Amino acid sequence: MNTDVIVVGAGPTGLLLAGDLATAGTRVTVLEKRPAALSNLTRAFAVHARSLEVLDARGLADELITKGQPVGSVQLFQKLTINLADLPSRFPYVLVAPQYEVERLLRRRAEEAGAVFRYDTEVTGLTQDADGVTVTVADGAELRARYLVGTDGARSTVRAAVGIPFPGRAVIRSMVLADVRLARKPADTLTVAAANESLGFIAPFGDGWYRFIGWHGNRNVSEDEPVDLEEVRAIARATLHDDFGMHDPRFLSRFHADERQAPTYRAGRVLLAGDAAHVHSPAGGLGMNTGMQDAANLGWKLAAALRLPDGAGAAVLDSYEAERHPIGKQVLRASGGILRAATSRGPLAAAASAVGVGIVSRAAPIRRRAAGFISAVGIAYPRPRGAHPLIGTRARDLPLDGGSRLAEALRAGRFVLVAPAGAVAPELPAALGEVDPAERVLTRRADGGATTLLVRPDGYVADAAPAA
Ligand SMILES: Cc1cc2nc3c(=O)[nH]c(=O)nc-3n(C[C@H](O)[C@H](O)[C@H](O)COP(=O)(O)OP(=O)(O)OC[C@H]3O[C@@H](n4cnc5c(N)ncnc54)[C@H](O)[C@@H]3O)c2cc1C
Repeated sequence: MNTDVIVVGAGPTGLLLAGDLATAGTRVTVLEKRPAALSNLTRAFAVHARSLEVLDARGLADELITKGQPVGSVQLFQKLTINLADLPSRFPYVLVAPQYEVERLLRRRAEEAGAVFRYDTEVTGLTQDADGVTVTVADGAELRARYLVGTDGARSTVRAAVGIPFPGRAVIRSMVLADVRLARKPADTLTVAAANESLGFIAPFGDGWYRFIGWHGNRNVSEDEPVDLEEVRAIARATLHDDFGMHDPRFLSRFHADERQAPTYRAGRVLLAGDAAHVHSPAGGLGMNTGMQDAANLGWKLAAALRLPDGAGAAVLDSYEAERHPIGKQVLRASGGILRAATSRGPLAAAASAVGVGIVSRAAPIRRRAAGFISAVGIAYPRPRGAHPLIGTRARDLPLDGGSRLAEALRAGRFVLVAPAGAVAPELPAALGEVDPAERVLTRRADGGATTLLVRPDGYVADAAPAA
């Protein structure tokens, strides 16, 4: 074996995974076909609350926040606005920050933790046997590891090599994308609008450049057709009622969005995460966020599978697909519903699409649920029947003994047992009895709560008890 895990693709999903694996002491090599100096073309702008929590539990959120702008609500379409200010999170907003900033921080962390990066290295094929996986790269060299994760995006070579299909369809064609300068700044940081079968979105890179994404139902032309700035301006005027004096475009393109999901996220020793496992339209800004949360779910399980006996390791790995595949399905459904609502003719059709995915209602609990879903703060994993209601939910950040917080305790990448204040070590529940003490953190809560929590390394509650 050259390493324990090969990660193919250094996008946000692969970078977060590589950092988690390396932090857990796993040997990991990342293979990326791009040259090191070339950053991924910025696509995502929206970093939602749960992703910020995930980054906080890796010591990166505060730095990212200095590179972006918090926005307290998201307008999804027509007049529907989802309020994020009441989210039960340290980050009650969506952070508008370009994807390359997220990637820069994740890469630095992975390198510091010991992950090995090989850029200019395109994976062309792979084979697997009972003990490991062998990949071939473009120059014909081979590399072998015990597991391999395909985080190589929508056109995943890894997915194709193991024969996992990617069923689905194109949901929107001929969207235009333009990076421009503006003569007039929009009033809001993030401007999204839909009107008369057209869509417009504009967000800042933070360095004077802006990205506009738009679509006009009447203009469904081939993707090869060049985009000119006047077409972009016209869509902006139709949707945002202003073209903000767009000028000096540095990048203009036309693209389509597909809605696809792999039916399984695992074939033997090969796993899929991020866009390699699911893609959908940019509506809702959920893609990068979902990919990072896949990675957070998988990292500690893969590290555990490498240490556990084969049978137990396989069961832990199976729980990755069991937990994340249904979430991917819901994300596709919600993003598709938002898109249909935004592009449908008239407010009634829009409302019908939105009601279909449960994101619009006058009822406050449904609106809160929608905010919980979009931000992913409300996403929970299944729990056994009759189990404590907190099991499977994400653990809220708590103040701990000694002035620290749960998110800080999670930075070690281990299980954290949070006991009520005053509990002494021998009274702590035996829940972690079988876990090596080097792999757990014991701590006490400082918020007066009586519940004892066993928190997984990805920040979800593994077990809970009403007292010490
Ligand atoms: C216009 C647009 C706007 C978007 N806005 C948002 C948003 O606001 N919020 C959001 O959450 N998401 C958004 N997304 C989606 C988001 O950008 C993706 O979901 C995200 O980049 C997926 O990350 P990933 O790491 O899984 O894959 P990718 O970012 O695609 O990374 C895959 C990596 O694998 C490498 N690679 C591919 N093949 C190979 C190979 N054979 N060998 C080696 N390396 C390989 C690639 O070079 C790439 O670096 C948007 C997408 C688009 C197109």
